Amino acid sequence: MRIARRLIDIAGLRDIIQRRIPVLVAESRQPGPVVWLTACIHGDEVGGTAIVHDVFARLRKEGLGRGAVHAFPLINSMGFENVSRYINTEREDLNRCFPGDPKGSMGEQIARRLYHTIMKSDPSLVIDIHNDWVQSIPHVLLDPPKSYPDGTTERRTLELARAGGLLLVEDSDVFHPLRNTLAGAFVDAGVPAFTIEAGGAFAVVEEGVAAGRDAVLSTLHSMEMIDWFVPAGQSDKMMPLRYTNRPLCSTSGLIRFDVHPGQEIREGQILAKVYSAFGSCEESLLAMADGFVLGLEDHARVLPGREVIAVAEQH
Ligand SMILES: [Zn+2]
Repeated sequence: MRIARRLIDIAGLRDIIQRRIPVLVAESRQPGPVVWLTACIHGDEVGGTAIVHDVFARLRKEGLGRGAVHAFPLINSMGFENVSRYINTEREDLNRCFPGDPKGSMGEQIARRLYHTIMKSDPSLVIDIHNDWVQSIPHVLLDPPKSYPDGTTERRTLELARAGGLLLVEDSDVFHPLRNTLAGAFVDAGVPAFTIEAGGAFAVVEEGVAAGRDAVLSTLHSMEMIDWFVPAGQSDKMMPLRYTNRPLCSTSGLIRFDVHPGQEIREGQILAKVYSAFGSCEESLLAMADGFVLGLEDHARVLPGREVIAVAEQH
């Protein structure tokens, strides 16, 4: 096996700013599946970069039996430097620009370059690694069932995601309509792809990194690319839960939560209360179904209509 590193050029202001994106490749002598890991497309979600580093450190030490693992360890260098989700002061979200457009906005041009680079390698799987609210648990986010172009892509995506052993959550096109994401663009093209939300953003949260790294290695193991890793947990029979950001807040004030990330909840259970400056309770937020708490809002100040909790609901 050999590990190579290179930089690819992306759109910039010609002769003023030159931006390049790092690429890592671990390649076995034996042919096999091609897996891509993409990280830090949101510049403040840095845990994925550490996950890529740790996966490659293990591959360097233990080897890769067949196929290749490619990675973009740090896509959004501009956001990383500025501790921002976005790629520029226009607040363009690169993860809403796929599959991109060579004549489009800056984000769409970068997305096009990334999309082509991955597609050229004939990928078997793309895992896009993100981070979530500071108080959140690692989980896999799958595209909504209706978004798959065919049953084969859907079944294979679910099978590979299950092999990782993390809680599986399918996105909701009603509550959380995400358009033009990286993972979504590959699913549209019939390439299995999913997102790992590896715990809190901003700082490297080591438990999130360990969970994400083990999920990636477990998936590689299931694809018979590595034989030296023993998957910790399997979620073979697990049906994906459904993502919801409901209930939203309908008042403003200071929010205090009665639940914590990872906690199992029952329909009607109090999730949080919103208090006025005098300490009177303005509102109680109640669980709308049975499920698990995925994450809690980073800020104490809440406003009407605001998302304050992420929940994985049972169907
Ligand atoms: Zn993200």
